[in-house]
Amino acid sequence: IKNRTRAVGDLLTDAEAWGDRDYIVTLDRRISFAEQVASARALAAALSEQYGIGQGDRVAILSANNPEWVTAFWASQALGAITVGLNGWWVPREVEYGLRHSTPAVVIVDAKRAAVLADVDTADAHVLTVEDDVPRLISAFAGRTPPPADIQEDDPSVILFTSGTTGRPKGVLHSHRNLLAVVDHHRLIDVKIAAHAGRRPDPASPSDLRYLLTSPLFHIASLHNLVVPRLATGSTVVMHQGAFDVDAVLTLVERERVTNWGAVPTMASRLLEHDGLEKYDLSSLTTFALASAPSSVAFKDRLRERIPFARHAISDSYGLTECSTAIAVAGPADLARHPGTLGRPIMTVELEIRGPDGIRVPDGEEGEVCTRSPFVMIRYWNDAEATSRAITADRWLRTGDHGAVEDGVLRLTGRRSDLILRGGENIYPTEIEQALDEHPAVTECAVIGVQHSDLGQEVAAVIVTAPGAAVTDDELRDFAAARLSYFKVPTRWRFTTGPLPRNATGKLIRTKIIA
Ligand code: ATP
Repeated sequence: IKNRTRAVGDLLTDAEAWGDRDYIVTLDRRISFAEQVASARALAAALSEQYGIGQGDRVAILSANNPEWVTAFWASQALGAITVGLNGWWVPREVEYGLRHSTPAVVIVDAKRAAVLADVDTADAHVLTVEDDVPRLISAFAGRTPPPADIQEDDPSVILFTSGTTGRPKGVLHSHRNLLAVVDHHRLIDVKIAAHAGRRPDPASPSDLRYLLTSPLFHIASLHNLVVPRLATGSTVVMHQGAFDVDAVLTLVERERVTNWGAVPTMASRLLEHDGLEKYDLSSLTTFALASAPSSVAFKDRLRERIPFARHAISDSYGLTECSTAIAVAGPADLARHPGTLGRPIMTVELEIRGPDGIRVPDGEEGEVCTRSPFVMIRYWNDAEATSRAITADRWLRTGDHGAVEDGVLRLTGRRSDLILRGGENIYPTEIEQALDEHPAVTECAVIGVQHSDLGQEVAAVIVTAPGAAVTDDELRDFAAARLSYFKVPTRWRFTTGPLPRNATGKLIRTKIIA
């Protein structure tokens, strides 16, 4: 016996039950579940009939966040094609690499990025524009349905690229089983959130939660954990479009009575800098989930102090593109009990800290975070070597992150690739950055290793100070020395007005930081 839903595209059939309720809401558009199902099927029929797209073909999307991105995703899933979410921040050279690597049959591109495509070799791919071709095809094929596809759970469904913080972005291949496991996880989350708010959860009825989308759709936090499960649970995606803008986002939150917001720490720090948050009624927000990049205890304290809705709502979650969803989550109660940690693994996730020999280390000792779960990717696309380095024969993923488990909760120390080797000492920059972040004059900082003739590397800090704040390197050196072992205290300092270079998910791009 098989479960009825075997493929991500089958969720379109489930979504028929949600009818005229809001699926996607933007500042000026409202798309119901019924409309989404119809437009996805029409576009799927067009892609099949006009462009010959079928199972296993790649449909790439290169676009800013907009409802057409989502329609293109569902259309490709309805056909059993593999959706390739290209990073909308990429420069032409990177786009060319992404296209060469994934060899899509169709590329769906918005007007702004069409210029990038004009400069790169798109090989044999058909290029369709978000603004003209997609709406034209949807209306030309209105009422049509795509041919049925015979999709198995372990067939590939999506390719998303890693951030490329440690080298070239890797194409992560997720199966239908991976995504449907995430959907099941979110069904439970929606029920739990409703129960927590004192409502009687009924999994058979649509969820009345309204989730804010402020991160790019080519990221798992947005696609796998927001857009896909909302179609399954009947809850709403309130989509902010364009560059992150505090006033525009808070206007949407107030108007749409948003209940849940997942943000990268850089967005949270923009809220901190903003004057006039009290102008908005943000009382509908019940969760404020930080994710994707490190945020310090001091930073979270500042958020709780200055942002009323954040007071009891902050959580932090740790995940990787390779894992489809968060591996570990620290809710508000976990953060109160164990500040600076990332909580416990979510259901069905196994997590172990392993030494260089691949053997589990005792609790409290540091090592590499390794994980196994139904969420772990099938493999990297077209990269057998990277796959065999990352996944063991018994399907454990080596994350490349270092950390320890104590009292059952995970504490991350940093990424192996960021390690600074000073003399015989191993130093993770995140720990130093988080200590410096406690200083009131520091708004942002980055710590990197720079060459040193005797030690191999020495520790350098780049500091962004708050406007009008005056702080010297001597003061910061003393401040760091009171919190860190002597060898971790930066010996080189540079002050700048910032902001520091960060990628689409708020991670520091250390290779672009000059000490
Ligand atoms: P690449 O593998 O190409 O270098 P990447 O690993 O940066 O890219 P992502 O999958 O976007 O690509 O990022 C995952 C990494 O982000 C994790 O391995 C971890 O280092 C970091 N991370 C994610 N969430 C958190 C968090 N809540 N706190 C601290 N670090 C986090």
